[in-house]
Amino acid sequence: MTTDHDPDRPAVSGDETVKSEPRRKTIDSPYIHRLQRRHFLIFDVLPIFGTVAAVAFLLVRPFGIVDFALLFVMWVVTGLGITVGYHRLFTHRTFKAAPWVGAGLAIMGSMAGQGAVVSWVALHRRHHEYSDRAGDPHSPNLSGAGWGGRLRGLMHSHFLWMRRHEYPNVVHYAPDLLKDRGLVRVARLYYWWVGLGLLIPTVLGGLLTLSWTGTVAGLLWGGFARMFILEHTVWAINSFLHMFGTRAYESRENSHNGGVFALLTFGESWHNNHHAFPTSPSFGLNWYRLDPGYWLIRSLAALGLAWDLELPSDERMAAKRISGKSTAAGNAAAA
Ligand SMILES: [Zn+2]
Ligand SMILES: [Zn+2]
Repeated sequence: MTTDHDPDRPAVSGDETVKSEPRRKTIDSPYIHRLQRRHFLIFDVLPIFGTVAAVAFLLVRPFGIVDFALLFVMWVVTGLGITVGYHRLFTHRTFKAAPWVGAGLAIMGSMAGQGAVVSWVALHRRHHEYSDRAGDPHSPNLSGAGWGGRLRGLMHSHFLWMRRHEYPNVVHYAPDLLKDRGLVRVARLYYWWVGLGLLIPTVLGGLLTLSWTGTVAGLLWGGFARMFILEHTVWAINSFLHMFGTRAYESRENSHNGGVFALLTFGESWHNNHHAFPTSPSFGLNWYRLDPGYWLIRSLAALGLAWDLELPSDERMAAKRISGKSTAAGNAAAA
């Protein structure tokens, strides 16, 4: 099969009728770039206007408990879908789950409007492969030196990269997902899930307030503003946490932890921990480091719906720990 051909090995000669080309890691085509531009405008730019509209709508209807509940619940549902489903389950396979649980998490993540699960996984696997080097889809550290370069890097990694970028070849980056027929079906229906994520708060807003203003507020707060808030917290991991924060573990890229944002990011802000131990279902790594994503995985495990949760051993963590290095060396010398 030509798609399984190792690019480092010469093509097997003999069959002159088949041209064997090494499989490419990324795909560039005007069609793909058109889709990217459309996705960027609808799902990344439009929520900004939707959030401005939500604030302007306060003149018509003050922010009430129903609006807050719709915003909060939809934010938690889609946020956990991204971190537990898209990221920890499908990108890094940090645990195993019942197929319907995986599909449910993928649908929750799809409603966030950050791309279909297969593309998201492929892009994120490429980020781990090339972190902060040429090929990383969203590094803030490759746009030049000085304050100008840093600012350009932050804007690129936070938002602008999504306008147009190399599309990772999903056959190369996500072959395991392509074999999962149920998941591919979920991915194909991506636009419907995003629509459902807007429809649910709209309908609930109407039913719970029995008013048209409540219906509109449901769409604006539970739909667009919720999407806007989650997007910017997730993107801040790509941008700010690859430039600022603390580093607990040695890792070859420039990832940092931002512990104070742990609750707001469902545990994603332990980003240096995550780069150091990408196969760990826990990003906090210690029980006292808040990690709502891991709490959900532990709850699923307690119900028998998730299993094979493997945390790095104390020895592995100690070997990579930056602050503990000298102590470990000191102990070894003293022993
Ligand atoms: Zn990751
Ligand atoms: Zn990263």
